[in-house]
Amino acid sequence: MKLPSRLPAKLLIGGEFVAGAGADETILNPATGEAICVIPEASAEQVDAAVAAAEEAFPAWSRTTPAERSALLLELANRIEKEAEAIASLESLNCGKPYASALADEVPAIVDCFRFFAGAARCLPGMAAGEYLPGYTSMIRRDPVGVVGSIAPWNYPLMMAAWKLAPALAAGNTAVLKPSEQTPLTTLFLAELVADLFPKGVLNIVTGRGETVGAPLVEHPRVRMVSLTGDVATGQKVLQAASRAMKRTHLELGGKAPVIVFDDADLEAVIEGIRTFGYFNAGQDCTAACRVYAGAKIHDRLVADLADAVSTLKFGAPEDEGVEIGPLISERQRSRVASFVERALSHGHMEAVTGGSAAEGPGFFYRPTVIAGALQTDEIVQREVFGPVVSVTRFSEVDEAVAWANDSEYGLASSVWTKDVGRAMAAAAQLQYGCTWINTHFMLCNEMPHGGMKSSGYGKDMSLYALEDYTVVRHVMAKW
Ligand code: NAD
Repeated sequence: MKLPSRLPAKLLIGGEFVAGAGADETILNPATGEAICVIPEASAEQVDAAVAAAEEAFPAWSRTTPAERSALLLELANRIEKEAEAIASLESLNCGKPYASALADEVPAIVDCFRFFAGAARCLPGMAAGEYLPGYTSMIRRDPVGVVGSIAPWNYPLMMAAWKLAPALAAGNTAVLKPSEQTPLTTLFLAELVADLFPKGVLNIVTGRGETVGAPLVEHPRVRMVSLTGDVATGQKVLQAASRAMKRTHLELGGKAPVIVFDDADLEAVIEGIRTFGYFNAGQDCTAACRVYAGAKIHDRLVADLADAVSTLKFGAPEDEGVEIGPLISERQRSRVASFVERALSHGHMEAVTGGSAAEGPGFFYRPTVIAGALQTDEIVQREVFGPVVSVTRFSEVDEAVAWANDSEYGLASSVWTKDVGRAMAAAAQLQYGCTWINTHFMLCNEMPHGGMKSSGYGKDMSLYALEDYTVVRHVMAKW
């Protein structure tokens, strides 16, 4: 780990660093439970000032050329890449992520996100011209929306910030970004990286809780679009508040990804896939491979092999070499996960074939867990646990597996495991999910969209679709 010489603590408003004037928020290290630092949140006046700065910066920024915006985004990507170790260290300290994974998996994906949108800014699709009425020429413009209020969660703090900022800024919007109150460190570090890069007010960063800083940002009359990644309940509140001023909303909410394993699947690949993608980031991932449906013939071997494989997952201090799983984000999150497992086991028909309890010692660790014998109607199958817990349910008919996978309020991500291409394609066509992986899970790339259906929200992160989401389509018609 290589932490910066001092921890970032200041908000960025109109190009100036200012101390938060609101209530103090103590930031914890989830691996030890100890305080890292205290960050004061933004006051109501500071939220107002951040929105005013973004509004003032908007006309000039929205008139920059795509090439000009692209150059700044590329420079930002370079600066993040140069500070990869500091960013990975801060993310590891604040979220309990294994340092090696933060450095190897997350920072490069963040850098690539800014590089992708730097290029995408220059080829925004949707331009069309033509004579649709005799004597008139029509043109389509894609213009930025205005000031975007971006609200991020705690599970991938800087990556979620990047997913929101890169398309918003590339399209010519200005932004006020609020990280989660639990994990502001890398976003505040980003503030230091951008302060002299973008024109004043193009990007503003305020910290604080949802009720005191997030809600005023959503309700602010000068904010034209709200982009949230978070819980479904938060999405509903944001949607309600945004509806009063007819604001555009972009909502990436929860998930409960089904993993359908047909009898002919390559069991070794399935086990490796679930071991990796069910427990990545301690399962605190909206696409985690957490709801397994196993064919009747493969089921028993899958449960036994998965229990063996998951019991070898190394959990421990995020900075230790070889650690695959860190702690959960908070004691609250750990007791939430523990209650899900306790309730599941109390029914009698389910069994924790590995794990099933919190780990001893300091920090908010929970043992990687596999619950066998789960039925479709069980809470552990239906609700998002957001922890290192995978349930396995046996199915007999193909249609039953797909129907059960779809029997969920969520619709973010899913996977199908089989050697039969036709069966995989048929299942993929029927699954009501924003993404279906075949013989893999979790893999994302900046060129392809990520986003949900149903209660998982709407709007796409990553890809040209995200760029479109941050623009308004306008028609200009000229009479000859
Ligand atoms: P959360 O909803 O508690 O908080 C998310 C953000 O919203 C935080 O910054 C919080 O301060 C803010 N917020 C809370 N209440 C608000 C309000 N009333 N108005 C405005 N802002 C408010 O979510 P979390 O616990 O930080 O993150 C976990 C959730 O995020 C999970 O449900 C997970 O599935 C989801 N998630 C989804 C995706 C995706 O791509 N779909 C990615 C990551 C996380």
